Amino acid sequence: MRRILWFRLDLRVEDNPLLSLEGEVFPIFIFDRNILDKLEKNDRRVSMIFHYVLKLKEKLKELGLDLKIFYGKPQEIFNSLNLSEFDEVVASGDYDSYAKERDLEISLLIHFHYIYDTYLFKPKEVLKGDGSPYLVFTAFYNKGIPLLKGREISVYKNTSQILYNSDYTNELTLESMGFETQIFEILQDINEKIEQFKKLLPEYKINRDFLSIPATSDLSVALRFGLVSVREIYRKFVDLEGGEAFIRQLIFRDFYAYLLFHFPHLQTHNYKGKFNGIEDKEKFERFCSASTGFPIVDAGVRELLQTGKMHNRVRMVVASFFTKDLLLPWQWGEKFFAQHLLDYDAASNILSWQWSAGTGIDPQPYFRVFNPYLQSKKFDKEAVYIKKYLPVLEQIDAKYIHNEEYLLEAKIPNYPKPMVEHKVAAKIAIDYFKNGA
Ligand SMILES: Cc1cc2nc3c(=O)[nH]c(=O)nc-3n(C[C@H](O)[C@H](O)[C@H](O)COP(=O)(O)OP(=O)(O)OC[C@H]3O[C@@H](n4cnc5c(N)ncnc54)[C@H](O)[C@@H]3O)c2cc1C
Repeated sequence: MRRILWFRLDLRVEDNPLLSLEGEVFPIFIFDRNILDKLEKNDRRVSMIFHYVLKLKEKLKELGLDLKIFYGKPQEIFNSLNLSEFDEVVASGDYDSYAKERDLEISLLIHFHYIYDTYLFKPKEVLKGDGSPYLVFTAFYNKGIPLLKGREISVYKNTSQILYNSDYTNELTLESMGFETQIFEILQDINEKIEQFKKLLPEYKINRDFLSIPATSDLSVALRFGLVSVREIYRKFVDLEGGEAFIRQLIFRDFYAYLLFHFPHLQTHNYKGKFNGIEDKEKFERFCSASTGFPIVDAGVRELLQTGKMHNRVRMVVASFFTKDLLLPWQWGEKFFAQHLLDYDAASNILSWQWSAGTGIDPQPYFRVFNPYLQSKKFDKEAVYIKKYLPVLEQIDAKYIHNEEYLLEAKIPNYPKPMVEHKVAAKIAIDYFKNGA
């Protein structure tokens, strides 16, 4: 058997089903122009992925294999290979509409052997008695957990594969693909990260929402690009004290991918409600330039623009503010996050935005609006996080940073007044959503 091993969201050699198949192999990675052509030339994710693809190439070399790195549209790349020399292509992946369409196109050219690696469950594994998908996370979780516990989640062992030698050579660089090299935070060694997080795990549930306490795993980028196997993360944490709360979040990741698989129209359309926000470019620009006058929102946007990350609690506050206080279309916010998040994942991002807008599948009602001031008071009492990303507020006492009246009245040098009054905006949003419900 001779196979093309198509690495995509599994940039690792450990516990990777692609490397557990025997026979002759031709490992490839494609920098996909269908995706890259839409990105800015200074997109830092491209530099990051390039880095991890080269690391994968090095690691494959240690196994006697080599990774051929291509740049182009997958269909064209496959057409340029001598496909009659191969029996099949093997790959895992995710379930957004582009991924499905791309794989379908390739399956018309060569036998496509799909393997499940990215998530804990296969998309049709956790279903209701009548065979339909769950719509509520808790029900999905309650059905899924016994399935996980009841099976052995073994490690995929590397077999000694034989490298198929093609005469293809390439000297791909970021510059040759038209991208500028960007600085990004190289992830700490995954095993060290895991060991560090084990110490935080017992307090994960109570601390995970506090913005300046190191409490979460910071594994989302590694999970997104398959730098670590999700099965390994599950195995390492499931039986530890505090593990349950953490595994629950990991299963949220699965649930969102599952929903997108079963309800592909959610990628762009509401599940419930006709209301779709109001397109207001001026408001949007103030949001994107972190000048809404809402400290927690502006700090979150700054964090995103500076680091490519944003704390989960802040993502929730920001998305609620965007869709409710500003009444902007959730699709705009989703796109903004998609442009900047290093851990960007279509399913988690889209479904979370729909959750915040109250238009999603889950029972989040449209009338639940986060109060940004109460949120920052509760989760960033001393404004440590806010001041880190908004040094312009350094001299302001934390208690005023959470105080709407103060912010509406005071003249803070180089910082704008709140662009809306929260209570008024929240009421307008609730009426608006109610009419569209
Ligand atoms: C509006 C919005 C947009 C989001 N967009 C993304 C995105 O594009 N990519 C992404 O990976 N996560 C997204 N999330 C979920 C969450 O914010 C991140 O996964 C989390 O902040 C990553 O930090 P961590 O690895 O330290 O998480 P931990 O708390 O340590 O959680 C462990 C892992 O579980 C998964 N996870 C945790 N929380 C969630 C959640 N609420 N939904 C889905 N999976 C979760 C992640 O893979 C995470 O790495 C979004 C949340 C919101 C509210």
